[in-house]
Amino acid sequence: MKLIPLIRKVLLTICVLSHLGCSANSSTAAAPNKPQVRATTLAAAEIRPVAPVTNVTSPEIAATMPEFLSALRNQPAVIGGIASVALNSRSATPPTMLYEQRRVLVLRDGQQWWAFVGIALSAKAGAHRLVDQDTGETYNFTVQAKTYPAQHITVKNQRHVNPNAEDLQRIQQETQQIQAALATPWRATDISPLPLAKPVAGGFSSPFGLQRFFNGQPRKPHSGLDISAPQGAEIHAPTDGIVVNTGDYFFNGNTVFLDHGQSVVTMFCHLDQILVKEGQRVSKGQVIGLVGKTGRATGPHLHWSVSLNKSLVDPKLVLQQ
Ligand SMILES: [Zn+2]
Repeated sequence: MKLIPLIRKVLLTICVLSHLGCSANSSTAAAPNKPQVRATTLAAAEIRPVAPVTNVTSPEIAATMPEFLSALRNQPAVIGGIASVALNSRSATPPTMLYEQRRVLVLRDGQQWWAFVGIALSAKAGAHRLVDQDTGETYNFTVQAKTYPAQHITVKNQRHVNPNAEDLQRIQQETQQIQAALATPWRATDISPLPLAKPVAGGFSSPFGLQRFFNGQPRKPHSGLDISAPQGAEIHAPTDGIVVNTGDYFFNGNTVFLDHGQSVVTMFCHLDQILVKEGQRVSKGQVIGLVGKTGRATGPHLHWSVSLNKSLVDPKLVLQQ
């Protein structure tokens, strides 16, 4: 069996990304509205045909969305998770929902609109609020705390633990660029940006949310999911998107950001090679780069981050099963 050496390798190739703070929020899934049932008996002539409900525009989405939405709605609203909030709007077009002044993803299941709010790891547990920009209607929801396990990592490059003054200046500039990429302006899409396909073949090594200690020193939590893959393995776009940023970052190494629309942005780090350019449109499955170990990484793997409304959330929540 090659399994044991593989596991060993996975443990060795830990990604060291953390950085990226985010705004926070979350909520407990609000109870969906009760269906509006009319008990009145109508004569046949009075019964109006009900227009078929199309909850999605793409046949592919129609096949996969409802099940996926159900799975997402069943997730608790925790920090680093996604809050599902049932909306009262019966509009044919998605209502504009704001969370901390940022527009959030809204998807439809039957006649029911749902807001899916990304809750950052830096969010505080407790009451949070979502607002319908058009009607002013507010929705309160509760975010629960979640304790993620600790992880201790040893890195050889001391500057990756305690950067020098020059490094810090670079990191500061890069943090602004990274935040700007995650804050890509809202872009409406015909198809749902979720679920996302796994971008590279391989097992999961470090999960999302780990509390990180580098050479014994506490650092920001792990804000993505590490997928173990050999150097040079192809990385695929998890769904259609636009390349909003590429660069070589101090911690992240060679990095690609994809905007999938409706505030869903994904980030791919430590690449050996970047094979796309800023502004380029990519299709689901298209190769965007190759796995590497650039930046603060202890070995080749893909660090993959998923952002909703500029909040990094657990990628496993939106992964197509
Ligand atoms: Zn990582």
